[in-house]
Amino acid sequence: MCEAMCGLAIEVDGERILSIRGDEEDVFSHGHICPKAVALADLHEDPDRLRRPVRRRGSDWEEVGWEEALDLVADRVLEVQRTHGPHSVAVYQGNPTVHNYGAILFGQMLLRALGTRSRYSATSVDQLPHQLAALLMFGHQLLLPVPDVDRTSFLLVLGANPLVSNGSMMTAAGIERRLRALRARGGRLVVVDPRRTETAALADTHLAVRPGTDALLLLALLQVLFAEGLARPGRLAAFTDGLSEVEGLARGFTPERVADRTGLAAADIRALARAFAAAPSAAAYGRVGLSTQEFGGLCQWLLVVLNVVTGNLDRPGGAMFTRPAVDLVAIADRIGQRGHFAKGASRVRGLPEFGGEWPAAVLAEEIETPGKGQVRALLTLAGNPVLSTPNGGRLERALASLDFMAAVDPYLNETSRHAQVVLPPVSPLERDHYDLVFHALAVRNTAKYSPPLFAPKADGREDWQILHGLAERIASRGGRRGLGSRLGSLAAGRLGPRGLLDLLLRLGPHGRGLRPWGRGLSLRALEKAPHGLDLGELEPALPAALRTSGRRIALAPPLLVADLARLRSRLDAPDPGGGLALIGRRDLRSNNSWMHNSARLVKGRERCTLLMNPSDAAARGLADGERVRLRSRAGAVDVTLAVTDDMRPGSVSLPHGWGHHRAGTRLSIAGARPGESVNDVTDELEVDGLCGTAVLSGVSVEVTPAAVPADVVR
Ligand code: SF4
Repeated sequence: MCEAMCGLAIEVDGERILSIRGDEEDVFSHGHICPKAVALADLHEDPDRLRRPVRRRGSDWEEVGWEEALDLVADRVLEVQRTHGPHSVAVYQGNPTVHNYGAILFGQMLLRALGTRSRYSATSVDQLPHQLAALLMFGHQLLLPVPDVDRTSFLLVLGANPLVSNGSMMTAAGIERRLRALRARGGRLVVVDPRRTETAALADTHLAVRPGTDALLLLALLQVLFAEGLARPGRLAAFTDGLSEVEGLARGFTPERVADRTGLAAADIRALARAFAAAPSAAAYGRVGLSTQEFGGLCQWLLVVLNVVTGNLDRPGGAMFTRPAVDLVAIADRIGQRGHFAKGASRVRGLPEFGGEWPAAVLAEEIETPGKGQVRALLTLAGNPVLSTPNGGRLERALASLDFMAAVDPYLNETSRHAQVVLPPVSPLERDHYDLVFHALAVRNTAKYSPPLFAPKADGREDWQILHGLAERIASRGGRRGLGSRLGSLAAGRLGPRGLLDLLLRLGPHGRGLRPWGRGLSLRALEKAPHGLDLGELEPALPAALRTSGRRIALAPPLLVADLARLRSRLDAPDPGGGLALIGRRDLRSNNSWMHNSARLVKGRERCTLLMNPSDAAARGLADGERVRLRSRAGAVDVTLAVTDDMRPGSVSLPHGWGHHRAGTRLSIAGARPGESVNDVTDELEVDGLCGTAVLSGVSVEVTPAAVPADVVR
């Protein structure tokens, strides 16, 4: 379910699951699991999970056969496209898609068949700035370095909580063990976060930065490194452009200059820069809290710059590139998908595209605003944007105005309840698994394939079959695809995901090619190794892996350099001070919005609480346990207050993925412990002005006593 790729040992008796444990022999996870693994049984057996397609009848739903359901969706989509043009049908792909290799491979076919430019995904509420930095600096949006956590001497973590996320854009099952090992071998762990997170509590040093100011901190670290002669890129200098330009850019951002804004002492910033530079090896790593802020694009760029100027990119113990069995970078090269940015602007607000997608923050306005290209129909693929994208309240009002909507989803959730047809895939235990994406982001090169545990029920369909069924119908009835493409789709359908995976493994860097036997990877070879295959530690890959012209690192890409003016003007303007800034939060027993219908995960203490520092609570006359109203420009929710000095004064935190009280869903357990959606408060108008990524960290909010009980407000 998450990026950690834990190996599971599942004991069954016929169709019954007896136990789920960590697979001690797994070459990567070595037996680690978290509580969500055991909840797979709840997901598989959940009576609320849809087993057959359903079609809306007024306010009710009726089950329909697969052929009828797929025909209906294809026909309605084509009808909208004929009437309003190809881009009037939008697609939103949710985060579970990246955990499902069949959905990745066949989702592309559906997108090609639709021929729509109205594409959205969870990328722009998550990792888009990582990919933007990779594209502009290394020439490929998927050249994403990961911290070599098992060998580093110094890990600097910004806006990430790996103890709870289990590692993100850093696949590292058992991360707590790995971080404790880092400290046991004399290494240092430093966490920069407005909250004393679970990871911060384990760290040697926690710096409670003010939300949204990490770019200033990173610039100040660079300023110290250059000013004190600590910038030593080593062998990277031979293939890096822009070192002196970066030095000049950082010059004005002294620790003293940014101290007030970041809320950090200049001496602490200076000490951090010196310690990072002095470490035998070091890696700076930042995740969602760093990406989803007003200057998220700058943050992810400056983070890489920090790794480069200290010589820590592409060396053991630093931030390294992987060599996975399926080489996504090479595949994307072959199909011309290295990535692109700002090749177009969104119709209403003019925000830039990234990799052919628009920011999720513009979806509602693209549905609401009349004119050529207005979105009139939506397909969601494993996505719940009402809970996962900013101002979900506005989005769901917009969804209600669509001419047609269909969802590929196992549940009637807060988003799919707006659909006319819902197409449910089989449970994760009824399909096979190979992690195309997260092997490519893992702290060690490994490969593992897991066959389905249970045969799908007679009329169960896997995600790829649903997507392929739709793609074939839309292509053949809409006539929008050439013969070559149709033949490709037919061949892919015949091979299925297993056949395609075998090809990708064979043609990958560890593969055996198309020879029927011999050394090297194939699907068969992986099937013979149920605990996975270890392909070795991360190794230096530069400059050969670079995709820029001349295979050089672009340390100062003009687009990013230009965006510094926005940051400078913010620093020069008077400090708004005073108010409260909202940040997000994850919970080990929660996985975005997916898993709240598991009784064993949601039982116990209330998790959807608003954390606030005691001084902020006292200033507002608020008490621990009280119901309070959290309000922004976009909306308001009533939540329970938890007063804790884990929060930096001036910041409050609410976890994401909750808000299951909407009528018309079929999530009986989640509905009984609904929580509130943080995205009823986040603001779709607050985005990183560079790349359109939603601002989910540092949203301006007010907190007051709740005037009336929450259920009355609803
Ligand atoms: S850490 Fe992630 S991969 Fe591992 S058991 Fe938990 S949800 Fe599954």
